[in-house]
Amino acid sequence: MTQDLTSMKPQRPSLYRLAADGRSLDFLFTQCPACHALSFPANAPGCMHCGHPTADAEQVARPGGGTLLEYVTLHVPLVPGMPAPSIAGDIRIAEQVVEEGVIAVDDESALQPGMTLRAVAVPLASGDSYGCAFVPAQEAAR
Ligand SMILES: [Zn+2]
Repeated sequence: MTQDLTSMKPQRPSLYRLAADGRSLDFLFTQCPACHALSFPANAPGCMHCGHPTADAEQVARPGGGTLLEYVTLHVPLVPGMPAPSIAGDIRIAEQVVEEGVIAVDDESALQPGMTLRAVAVPLASGDSYGCAFVPAQEAAR
């Protein structure tokens, strides 16, 4: 399966974009002008660490991914069309920034807390856009 992701649009363009390798995702953060910490999503009204307004702050792209904190297997689809079972996890994507994401592995035996995950683009059924999923870092490098 080789779908050309570069011709597709991100499902959530305010959150991520395709990285230079054409498969990984870069996440979009706002860097606070006061404390220099990263906030996510980038369109938040203020710094999530110190509260400083970030309306004119610089947006920065960083390779998407992070540290897996915990995870759970969902045996019932949360939304129609979502495959079940699927695995959702809390991932620390930057210092003090934790987001929930879908982890694209067959079962929990491939996972352990503390492991590094990478964000990759996953083609959506519509065929013209891609979503975000996390995979173990060593798998992404394959
Ligand atoms: Zn700040």
